Amino acid sequence: MIPPAHGGTLVDRSLRSEVLDRRISEIQDLPRLRPSLDDLYDLDKIGIGAYSPLEGFMGSAEVDSVERQGRLPNGLPWTVPIVLTPPGPANRAIIDSAAAGDDLVLEDGTGGALGVLHLAEKFPLDRARFAQSVYATTDVRHPNVADLANWGDTCLAGTVDVLRRLPLPVGRQELTPRETRELFRTKGWSSVAAYQCRNPPHVAHEYLQRVTLERPDVDGLLIHPVVGRLKAGDYRPEVILAAYEALVRNYYSPQRVVLSALSITMRYAGPKAAIFLSIVRKNFGCSHYIVGRDQAGVGTYYDPYAAHRIFDEYDVGVVPLRYEESYFCRKCGETTSARSCGHGAEDRIDTSQTRIRKALKDGGAIPRELLRPEVAEILRAPNVLIEPDR
Ligand SMILES: [Zn+2]
Repeated sequence: MIPPAHGGTLVDRSLRSEVLDRRISEIQDLPRLRPSLDDLYDLDKIGIGAYSPLEGFMGSAEVDSVERQGRLPNGLPWTVPIVLTPPGPANRAIIDSAAAGDDLVLEDGTGGALGVLHLAEKFPLDRARFAQSVYATTDVRHPNVADLANWGDTCLAGTVDVLRRLPLPVGRQELTPRETRELFRTKGWSSVAAYQCRNPPHVAHEYLQRVTLERPDVDGLLIHPVVGRLKAGDYRPEVILAAYEALVRNYYSPQRVVLSALSITMRYAGPKAAIFLSIVRKNFGCSHYIVGRDQAGVGTYYDPYAAHRIFDEYDVGVVPLRYEESYFCRKCGETTSARSCGHGAEDRIDTSQTRIRKALKDGGAIPRELLRPEVAEILRAPNVLIEPDR
């Protein structure tokens, strides 16, 4: 069954065109805030219902509940607080004079109005508590913990109305939950597995997707790469999309696979991120969710299988498909895992990112245990990585 949205109803906070024209004239004189790009991605996702049941940015009681128990106050699983914390002195002045009941315009970096916040509450951001509860560390070497220092000191809570979509990194290749649900319906799928990723596909990723497609209880696969603001050294959003397009076009049945991007800021929160990302995919209409080894991890902050185990604690309403590490076995002559391959570690070929990047740099034919040649060709182009200075 295609699941209903998280909490039962798919939220829609985007204004219809007839309302929109009136609202735009009404908001001319309202105070204007310029949130960070991270917060604008979240605004956009609230608007399209990707964060159902959220209709706005969280208040202090919701944040407290999420941090304390990984659930909304009504008990529904939710592991990452969604807060609005506009940074900088210009925002500061507006935040200080704003009071509950005020309407505030949220604008993008060019001054265009994206949405309106109906302010219900403002409260201080507790960075250390946020970091510890979501990321299980306050170590500033963790990329998301480091980001917290750039957030504003005050959280603004309240429902939002979204006037238009943010200009998205890969444009129209980002379907809304309503669009994916309609697409699944027209394809006749009643069960869809979501594949979370943030890298171009190598052969081990393809293996997990194929194993999933072979399951009799899965009608289709949504490949849903996160392409919001990533971290330095990650592949650029358009490169990730192009690499997946090459894989889908050259190798997969178009009857079984949908590719669409998801622009949110990646939370490298290991298990807590896995739950959050599975809830988002449920809102897009997915009934199953693929959880590989060390999903949404970074460095050595999380046990590689913590993201598997956390699904025992939370019934999100999707079926977690938990896969162990896969590898290329010399004796089997294919990508496999210890669930079917009986050979030892000495027969496994190194397929690490380090080796993939070296093989791409060295030129020549790419080993078949690493990448499809069509994918390798895209990754060999110049400027495919995000520079450290952003
Ligand atoms: Zn083997």
